[in-house]
Amino acid sequence: MTPRTISAAGRATARWVRGCLGWLGAAACVGLNAQTFRLPTANRTLLTPGHQAGFYTGTVGRPWTSGTFGCVRTGGAQLHEGLDIRSVQRDRQGEPADPVMATADGTVAYINSHASLSAYGIYVIVRHGIDGMEVYSLYAHLSRIADGLRVGQPVRAGQTLAIMGRTANTRQSISRERAHLHFELCLLINEHFPQWHRRTYRDGVNDHGLWNGLNLAGLDPESILLEQHRRGPRFSLLNVVRCQTELCRVVVRHTRFPWLQRYPALVQRNRLAERDGVAGYEIALNFNGIPFHLVPRAPSEIRRRAPIHLLSVNESEQRLRPCRGLVRKISGRWELTPKGVQFLELLTFP
Ligand SMILES: [Zn+2]
Repeated sequence: MTPRTISAAGRATARWVRGCLGWLGAAACVGLNAQTFRLPTANRTLLTPGHQAGFYTGTVGRPWTSGTFGCVRTGGAQLHEGLDIRSVQRDRQGEPADPVMATADGTVAYINSHASLSAYGIYVIVRHGIDGMEVYSLYAHLSRIADGLRVGQPVRAGQTLAIMGRTANTRQSISRERAHLHFELCLLINEHFPQWHRRTYRDGVNDHGLWNGLNLAGLDPESILLEQHRRGPRFSLLNVVRCQTELCRVVVRHTRFPWLQRYPALVQRNRLAERDGVAGYEIALNFNGIPFHLVPRAPSEIRRRAPIHLLSVNESEQRLRPCRGLVRKISGRWELTPKGVQFLELLTFP
């Protein structure tokens, strides 16, 4: 069976739009979220319409938009998985001095204090539990971690974690003028990442264990911060995740993988599978691979034997946001790229 094109088939889109509205109704019934995200530095210009240029730092010689989230680098071919937030406080030497604050209540999950080990330089990751979901915030290119900050330590929203800096192990260093905080909001793909990495790369080095960039899939922090600003206490992170735009839909013949346990609110019930048993999952992915809608499938609902296969592609989304490179069209036929297959292997690694 050739994977469907959603824009051509139409039906799949209609089904999905209904699904998202269904989620919204359900969320409205279960109550609202008191926890909110704060801007991680004193730079608040994001919230003033028309002033985003003062919030972002672009890449060298590029406009501010290259500091936003998404397919904004190398003419749209390269993903930037966070926001580059411009420095607004400087010390006497002109170095960035902005305190970097926790975006929400949480627990310190990881600290990399060896700038030479990452393109992110010195960075901190904080784990949050919001709307029943584990979400992670990441703060990179720091100069200095707050005294005494330790992994496992609870932190409050607004608490200073570090001071902004320019650390990175890349060949091209970050100039004083371009000093910024690289800020991400991510979901964790698989807590067995180190085992998967050993099996997949054999001799490959994995300096950051679970916190390898391959294992963190970024959401767009700008849309989350603005949506929250607009909706106030009616904001729901769960709804934002559930209503991601679908890039493609796949079926996996795997029935036990950590994502199902960590993000059960993204899994929809299917009575046929409850009655006949689960043979696999149908999964909707956004352009960045985030599996935001999963449906258990009964044996009679899965026709193909392949452990992973592509069901449909939303061509307009692929045109708009191709940079993660999960699918491609070869001789008029859509398929998962090797990158796409590898990502799904990581997702479904038991
Ligand atoms: Zn960045």
